[in-house]
Amino acid sequence: MTILPEQPVFRFAPSPNGLLHLGHALSAILNHDMAAATNGRFLLRIEDIDRARCRPEFEAAIFEDLAWLGLAWEQPVRRQSDHLDLYAETLQRLRTMGVVYPSIMTRGDIRSAVAATEADGAVWPRDPDGSPLYPGHERELSPRAQAAIVAGERPYAWRLDVAAAIKLVAEPLTWRETGAGPTGETGLITADPAGWGDVILSRSDAPSSYHLSVVVDDALQGITHVVRGRDLYHATSVHRLLQRLLNLPEPVYLHHRLVLGPDGRKLSKSNQDTGIAAFRVAGRSPADVRAMILEGAS
Ligand code: GLU
Repeated sequence: MTILPEQPVFRFAPSPNGLLHLGHALSAILNHDMAAATNGRFLLRIEDIDRARCRPEFEAAIFEDLAWLGLAWEQPVRRQSDHLDLYAETLQRLRTMGVVYPSIMTRGDIRSAVAATEADGAVWPRDPDGSPLYPGHERELSPRAQAAIVAGERPYAWRLDVAAAIKLVAEPLTWRETGAGPTGETGLITADPAGWGDVILSRSDAPSSYHLSVVVDDALQGITHVVRGRDLYHATSVHRLLQRLLNLPEPVYLHHRLVLGPDGRKLSKSNQDTGIAAFRVAGRSPADVRAMILEGAS
């Protein structure tokens, strides 16, 4: 009997909260081309959990831009907003494991708490994106006080008790990096989920966060290779922790370089000049866009 090697599965997973730019084009093209080169599958996933910022017209623009680039993806496209129940169930599993707790501290509360500490000259730790780590102690509230938050009127979020979660998984967490991280790391990388503090996994008004839904979907869709920009390199630490907690398979990761704007800064969805559509309108060809972004890629 011949045992076939596992067929690689790649995905491009944009959020329809703006127009795709050249950085997205690079991610999409790398995933597509790597799938084609390995006889693998290429999936497109619409990450539209944030209902306040996502719009159907941006989703339509994603399809249009990717098709213009000459990419073909499998149907049907998975749309995260169609699967909110699944993320809610997964959160419920984490509740049962005792690794999440409800938190009513707002961003403003967090800013004031951090400012008060730093007023005395202390420096409060930041996460890899530069935001202050959650400074609260709501994880220590009694079960009764936690139940009162859940039953109460005020909006709240479910935070991961990262220390409890790390303790539960016990072994050191790693991932296999086949690109090169922000400082050139490649090979077996040690994850540092504690560097993010107690991240939010869901809110009372939105049953999932990026971190929770991305690991659930990557597992459910059988993604073997996660190829995405280096801006998400550090997020992989949280993803590895959640994968281990939820007993999900571990994909291989490749974090590719970011496409920078003419000012040397990371592109943003609000900068129309570097949008894929702007190149199309300006009469450039998909081959021009490929050539422009693939120079020195990965
Ligand atoms: N939805 C995320 C974004 O648009 C990407 C998620 C991922 O590739 O893991 O930035």
